[in-house]
Amino acid sequence: MSDIIRRDPRAEWIARNRLHPLHAAMQPAQHSWMGPNGIIRKNLHGIGFIGPNGIKRIDRSGAQQGGAVKRSAAVEVQLPLHQVPAPAFYISVVPDMVGGRLSSHDRDLLGLAHQLAGSDGAVLAVVFGEHKENAFATAGVDRLLVLEGEEFSGYAPEQRIQGLRAVDNQFNPRHWLLPDSRSGGGELGRRFAAALGERPATRVWQVKDQECIGRAGAGLQDLARPVARLILASAECAEPVSETRHEALPVELSTPVARSLSRIEDLGAVAVDPAAIPMAEAEFIFSGGNGVKDWELFHRTAAALGATEGASRVAVDDGFMARDRQVGASGTWVTARVYVAVGISGAIQHLQGIGACDKVVAINLDPGCDMIKRADLSVIGESAEILQALIAAVEAYRNEAKRDAA
Ligand SMILES: Cc1cc2nc3c(=O)[nH]c(=O)nc-3n(C[C@H](O)[C@H](O)[C@H](O)COP(=O)(O)OP(=O)(O)OC[C@H]3O[C@@H](n4cnc5c(N)ncnc54)[C@H](O)[C@@H]3O)c2cc1C
Repeated sequence: MSDIIRRDPRAEWIARNRLHPLHAAMQPAQHSWMGPNGIIRKNLHGIGFIGPNGIKRIDRSGAQQGGAVKRSAAVEVQLPLHQVPAPAFYISVVPDMVGGRLSSHDRDLLGLAHQLAGSDGAVLAVVFGEHKENAFATAGVDRLLVLEGEEFSGYAPEQRIQGLRAVDNQFNPRHWLLPDSRSGGGELGRRFAAALGERPATRVWQVKDQECIGRAGAGLQDLARPVARLILASAECAEPVSETRHEALPVELSTPVARSLSRIEDLGAVAVDPAAIPMAEAEFIFSGGNGVKDWELFHRTAAALGATEGASRVAVDDGFMARDRQVGASGTWVTARVYVAVGISGAIQHLQGIGACDKVVAINLDPGCDMIKRADLSVIGESAEILQALIAAVEAYRNEAKRDAA
């Protein structure tokens, strides 16, 4: 045997392809890591080693897991702190903060910002109104500017542009990065570009060698151009920050933000029938597959949760759901913040359709199926029982909320 290291291009491709069913199996084994919300995750299956006779051994002294020197979980994964005491320049990021938290798209953008900032620049995140995020530091934020005030809340693009202009005047960022999303960043970024009189680079999926590459021609072509000052980037434009901790030092504007003429009035959210929301725009999808045995119960659960219904192709082919509800490669590609898959195995054609969903919850009998591998949260069991328990939990929660309000 020669000791030349052989590469397996197919295995490498699977390891990069998050949608491939074998993706998880191709990742390097990790015993513990920090999850996106800062909680330490442990892979209990990864503990131990295979002894000479093929039997798995676990060293309970703890020495094997680095426990000879007792350390707390927090110390174990303390990431190195990246500090920029005197930034040479800023890279400004305006995350969407859907639901008050950084989305995975926002985190990709912060990863891209760090690429552009290098070691001298600082990443400045500009956030509007109240938020619930406590992981700015691990997401890569060096400086945090929160623009508080009633005037920024709700749909207030003109007022937000005034805020961004004030940031631009004070910090003069080398680049502005906004998510090219439908959650706000796409529109805000284009309005901001018009206000600055600059041409933005849109739908950017890669920034490399002083060039940014964005999708064009109805998504069929790539457009390469020198790195623009204002970049509207797509999800997965870069790897999110994962190896460093940042200061997230609060900064403030030295001058108050000018008030814009209120030409737009936000009348608040409108109650809509979830069933009438187009699949591609639905934020919360409750999807059923071949593992749903009681469709009447499925519809009742979706109604109780206020979710938009979706389906696998098998459920559609069997006549349980309408064709326009099919999720997947030959149905609709969805971008929900929460996607619940009930009795769906996770065939590659289905997984392709949910690639852009933020959080996936799987309800399935089979703990080894591909949907469970893709899911952020899994419930193993009989779908009917779980749906009934879900309805009971939702009703109990609503009754409690009503009692508290009374
Ligand atoms: C060209 C092509 C295009 C396709 N396009 C699409 C597409 O766009 N969308 C799509 O969805 N599919 C598509 N398919 C089909 C796809 O390959 C799968 O066949 C399909 O997604 C499987 O649907 P399913 O997961 O509902 O059913 P199954 O594969 O039968 O899975 C059922 C799941 O339910 C679980 N289960 C069973 N009973 C219960 C229970 N009582 N409680 C809980 N869980 C239970 C099982 O463990 C299993 O995981 C396409 C196929 C081809 C060839």
